[in-house]
Amino acid sequence: ERFVIAAGPLLREVGMMLGVELPVFTELHGKIALRDERRIVPREAPLLIWDDPLHLPWTDAERRELAARPETRWLLDSFPAGVHVRPREEGGASRPWIIWTYDIHPQEAVWPPAFDPFYPEVLVRGLSRMIPGISAYFDQGSRAFVDGGYYCKTRENRPLIGPLPVEGTYVIGALSGYGVMASQAAGELLAAHLTGASLPDYTPSFLLARYDDPMYRQLLAKLDATAGQL
Ligand SMILES: Cc1cc2nc3c(=O)[nH]c(=O)nc-3n(C[C@H](O)[C@H](O)[C@H](O)COP(=O)(O)OP(=O)(O)OC[C@H]3O[C@@H](n4cnc5c(N)ncnc54)[C@H](O)[C@@H]3O)c2cc1C
Repeated sequence: ERFVIAAGPLLREVGMMLGVELPVFTELHGKIALRDERRIVPREAPLLIWDDPLHLPWTDAERRELAARPETRWLLDSFPAGVHVRPREEGGASRPWIIWTYDIHPQEAVWPPAFDPFYPEVLVRGLSRMIPGISAYFDQGSRAFVDGGYYCKTRENRPLIGPLPVEGTYVIGALSGYGVMASQAAGELLAAHLTGASLPDYTPSFLLARYDDPMYRQLLAKLDATAGQL
């Protein structure tokens, strides 16, 4: 019998049931679907990404108010690059997706995920740097539907695919924010492990055992868990 752990953000927890420590962590990633009745985001626009850090636009009065409270002061800080928008239609109406993961501190995966109440406002204000007309939707949080989930990642943002130290057990996971795109190649590699088919030359890069290799541990220092990630 074979047992494959493919528990997504709960990979670590299921690993612990076998007594295997899987070196992964989770980050909460959200997005909003915005009711864009004014069609400010043109339907024919491509995916647009703002690639510079920015400060959110506030009026002077708002700034004073936000600065006065420790729990809102962070809204005046510089935010990292990466706010992006993808035009999208739903039932003939414009419902663009806006995505911006400005906070990627590792956090335990809990269900349902809880998003910061300021999250939709931060996204709309951040996007207004690139699409000024979107400011028509400032202070209208209810216009946004917030959704998202957890990325499960290794520290170097490479998946885990292959056998585990407990006989007959395997893992496929830590697919981070690219698991839909990588699913077929990842599944193919797992299937080769399970069926005893010949393994491709990149197999060692995804094994849990890679962390036992001193050369790989040296390489780890140079790999970044956020490289290329939106
Ligand atoms: C907001 C967001 C946007 C994303 N956008 C993209 C994108 O554009 N392109 C892309 O390629 N990827 C994207 N991803 C990443 C992609 O969704 C993941 O990498 C992928 O879903 C991981 O697949 P998985 O099978 O490892 O885990 P999951 O898809 O999470 O599946 C794990 C399954 O295991 C089940 N499970 C957990 N514990 C147990 C248990 N004890 N017993 C039984 N079942 C259990 C869960 O219910 C779940 O169904 C995005 C992720 C998020 C959060």
